[in-house]
Amino acid sequence: MYYNFYCNEKLLIDHFQESGEGNRMLKRLLAQSGLPPDKCADIYLQKMDNREGLYYDRFDVIQDFAERSTGVDSLTKLDKISVYKQDVDYIKGYIKDFHMTQRETMVLFGVIMMCRMMQTDTLDLTTKYKIQQFCSCFGKDITYKKEEMEHWYDDYHAPIGLRKVCDEYGALLRVPCEKGFGKVGCRYVYPGYGLEDKTILKQYIVTQNRNRLDLEYIFRDLGLDGVRFCGRCGREFKARSGRSKYCKNCVDDIRRKQTRNRVRKHRDARKNDVTQ
Ligand SMILES: [Zn+2]
Repeated sequence: MYYNFYCNEKLLIDHFQESGEGNRMLKRLLAQSGLPPDKCADIYLQKMDNREGLYYDRFDVIQDFAERSTGVDSLTKLDKISVYKQDVDYIKGYIKDFHMTQRETMVLFGVIMMCRMMQTDTLDLTTKYKIQQFCSCFGKDITYKKEEMEHWYDDYHAPIGLRKVCDEYGALLRVPCEKGFGKVGCRYVYPGYGLEDKTILKQYIVTQNRNRLDLEYIFRDLGLDGVRFCGRCGREFKARSGRSKYCKNCVDDIRRKQTRNRVRKHRDARKNDVTQ
């Protein structure tokens, strides 16, 4: 799809025909490649999907690229994605303190990962395209909506869950964007961006087949799905259902105590029966 996010857009152009993406995507990538318009046109004509066998005038295509091209290479070219322990600890801290839902945890994780990949402490989700691109990195659970504020002119669009992550939990700083054509979203600043601990938990190598960013896969692979903190002993555990509040040790302990109480009550009741 047009708004799929690729870690290495250069690699995507090289293997474009195997990617299943459409001509619109190819055109956007080439316009951002920094290549001269005639080069862009040649690659476009060579790699585009022309199943209908239409005739394209090379000169027209060059003209089109002359108008679109930015002249500078702004393609994303990541060869690996690194996950830092510091970032995962940051996320877990908020799960512990605010009992974030899975969806909230996922969007927070997404913003932090994007900041690392783009090497900036601020993620720009100001346009619908960028918001859609962000959501496309997850399964269909992550969508976006219009957030209604007290004043209509403060309304904005954002991935569902991100509002709470920012405005209630304070895990990210939300910066409303300047009003303008197509500007419907916000920017998000990650306060934990400065790396004090460079420990890397895991690295994912970007290949042709694993070029499209799948943040949900990484989220689950890191074991972040279902991470909870026990409401009794505070220890981290993995929830098997959406409702579990306590770790297994505490659940067993609570059950044992309940049984003991039940037995005692039963015994007391029988004792009373005998004495009466
Ligand atoms: Zn516990």
